[in-house]
Amino acid sequence: MNRDNSRSQIFIFIGPPGAGKGTLSQLCVHKLGWIQLSTGNLCRKHIALQTNIGKQIDFAIKSGKLIDDSLMTSMVIDWLINQVDLLDLKKNIILDGFPRTLEQAKLFHNVLMENSKLQTKITVVRLAIDDTIVISRLMGRSICKNNDCQKVYSLYSEAGLAPRVQGSCDDCSSPLIKRADDEEPAVKDRLISYHRHANDLINFYQNIGGYKGELNVNQSLEQVFNQFISLIGF
Ligand SMILES: [Zn+2]
Repeated sequence: MNRDNSRSQIFIFIGPPGAGKGTLSQLCVHKLGWIQLSTGNLCRKHIALQTNIGKQIDFAIKSGKLIDDSLMTSMVIDWLINQVDLLDLKKNIILDGFPRTLEQAKLFHNVLMENSKLQTKITVVRLAIDDTIVISRLMGRSICKNNDCQKVYSLYSEAGLAPRVQGSCDDCSSPLIKRADDEEPAVKDRLISYHRHANDLINFYQNIGGYKGELNVNQSLEQVFNQFISLIGF
């Protein structure tokens, strides 16, 4: 692959729900000026705008199906193409929540290989944490109801992410809500799905290059961030 290191890089975080992928991403955005793509938010945006992609996602959700890998991948590629100018500005990009499956990773890799404008270095990091800790973290998680904000809070004491005023967003004062997929049965399903795909994804990136290693994320956010910086050699 023709990699030009002066261009922006793409970072992929592989970790279970509740490992803090979003929080670490937000920190990279604020401290390093990187760009975060939250695929969850992007899905919701497409649905709200009723774009072609949004209609297909909406249909999949309403029929109780999983959003298929090629649709998910085209959504990310579509976003990335719109960011090409930013790639030239050397801003690094974090894909938060993508790829989730080996199929998505392969499709994504193939598109990047075929499109010279999108060729860039990919760095993959695993966020490691026990399932039991993930479950208790997610039970205590709430997010800002405001779609333009969606800041994540945690009542889980060690996370240090409690809102200043209970039940209200620090940034925009909107009420905090619990997402349906943070309820216990949903959390367990998401963990099963995560474990089913995680090793395949890591193996894939070990083979094509880009896998950097593991972060222990059962630590304070600051420790996680410092560990991340030294792992990627920034
Ligand atoms: Zn907010």
